[in-house]
Amino acid sequence: MLYQSLVDVYVRLAGTSKRLEKTNVLSGFLSQVSEDDAERVILLLQGLVFPVWDERRLGVAEKLVLRAISKATGKSAEAVEQVWKTSGDLGDAAAACVQAKTQAVLYSGELSVGKVFANLQQVASFTGDGTVDNKVGLIAELLTSATPVQARYVIRTALGDLRIGLGDGTMRDATVWSCFAARLGLTYDASENDFQLTPEQRQQYDRVVDAVQFAYDRTTDFASVLSAARKGEDSLRSMKIVVGKPLKVMLYQKASTIGEAFEVVDRPASVEYKYDGFRLQIHKKREEVFLFTRRLENVTAQFPDVADRARSCISAREAIVEAEIVGFDLATGKYLPFQNISVRIQRKYDIQETAAKYPVHIVLFDLIVVEGRDCTLLPYKDRIELLTHAVAQSREFHLAERITTDDEQEATQFYVKSLSVGNEGVMLKRLDSPYQPGSRVGFGVKVKAVMDAVDVVIVGAEWGEGKRSAWLSSFEIACRHGDQFLTIGRVGTGFKEKAEEGTTFADLTEALKPHVRAQKGREVAVAPAVVIEVAYEEIQASPSYSAEFALRFPRFIRLRPDRRPEDVTTLDDIRELYSHQRGK
Ligand code: AMP
Repeated sequence: MLYQSLVDVYVRLAGTSKRLEKTNVLSGFLSQVSEDDAERVILLLQGLVFPVWDERRLGVAEKLVLRAISKATGKSAEAVEQVWKTSGDLGDAAAACVQAKTQAVLYSGELSVGKVFANLQQVASFTGDGTVDNKVGLIAELLTSATPVQARYVIRTALGDLRIGLGDGTMRDATVWSCFAARLGLTYDASENDFQLTPEQRQQYDRVVDAVQFAYDRTTDFASVLSAARKGEDSLRSMKIVVGKPLKVMLYQKASTIGEAFEVVDRPASVEYKYDGFRLQIHKKREEVFLFTRRLENVTAQFPDVADRARSCISAREAIVEAEIVGFDLATGKYLPFQNISVRIQRKYDIQETAAKYPVHIVLFDLIVVEGRDCTLLPYKDRIELLTHAVAQSREFHLAERITTDDEQEATQFYVKSLSVGNEGVMLKRLDSPYQPGSRVGFGVKVKAVMDAVDVVIVGAEWGEGKRSAWLSSFEIACRHGDQFLTIGRVGTGFKEKAEEGTTFADLTEALKPHVRAQKGREVAVAPAVVIEVAYEEIQASPSYSAEFALRFPRFIRLRPDRRPEDVTTLDDIRELYSHQRGK
């Protein structure tokens, strides 16, 4: 196929922002693409030369492109840079430079899709000495035989930014139009920018769209989806998940309370720690392991430690499992928030050192394929059961902590426990749900503490029981209203075990002792003197406290010796926070 045919489509797609018009242009083009060209053409339409999940990267920076344009057009690099500065886009700069050079010459017009694709793929293959020169040479060679507009798109592809406004949704619909329009009786009216279908045709249309989406979510590969769609709906429905190629992950909904979460997933449910790391799809095929992020990027090279563990701890010969990768602090034995390990995702060098510096634990939470069996349609509880048998668990590689319960109170206690060990919240999952790739369905719900924090003053406390009997261990907290202090809750979590880790119950007891006014049983009244910062999930109206508000799931953050009781959050502030949160 001539590269110009593809470039015509780029130009037409870039020329409209109307989604249906784009779909129409693209579907017309797809209908002409031969089976042989499909893979290359579809990648190039997406601005790619390798699938997203491929580890190979072009590694083309702007400087390199400037040199290639300079080499192909005979302009100095400074002159090209000048053109770039005026146009603001290197693709446009390439077009302008090629135009200036070849004005008098007739373009050969021979550049083929195959040649562009092959040269750009080859660009990714160099390492070591001469890499930059080799890459410059391959790109310059394409520019030499390109027309100005072709040059624009060669450069934009090399830089990975096509700017034609083509998303997965349009690609999917265009696949449907291209393969099923005739059968569905679908005709697009450009003047109306619309297409008409009877209710019955609409139903069929939706079903086919769903089939294409189904196939894409499982394979994330539009070329093979197009090829299946040409054979018909059954082919789409029978597309298989392939170990080694990522699939779209299932997404979860959000609930603001445990009760609300149960409403969505039904009782009993699996209630699990929601770890604060990042998600990886782990594929294992004999000794080979592939790791993909939720954006489907292949990060196997960045996580040799995870790959090694997966290789040795997944006992199944072939599997796809999902895991949360969580930073782990060897010194304290605790999980670290995501920010601490995020550096590892992008890291391209010093991989082993970085892995040693930021160790991670692998927490498994779903199973998609095992020993050639697609498990997506199995109920969640069966997938977990199979997962248990497919892996050898250890401290660094284990299933997510979970309980199965129908009891809100038990789930809430588990939630509080999850927060207290440093997690983000909990996930509630429906026991009989399938795994639906690519969808945000109500099969799982996250309940996350979106913690806000306020400064409050302690006005009362209670002596602990058992091994805590030497300390005050639950604290009544208050906001300020004029010169009064009104209670808004009690806090008893967030304290550390050891003094070196932060504030302990003993520390706070010592700080409060001078301010104790009265004692009745285990309850003590305390003069408002000690200010603390408290995080909470939500503010609720509540008759139980004198402020008539309560902080939900309050958690101690730190002492604020720099604050006076007069400085704490006022009732007006709380009202404001409350109404703002309601407004959302
Ligand atoms: P969010 O990123 O807020 O949409 O929450 C969903 C994410 O939580 C998932 O994509 C996982 O990365 C992560 N996660 C942590 N623990 C679990 C778990 N037990 N089950 C499912 N996802 C989890």
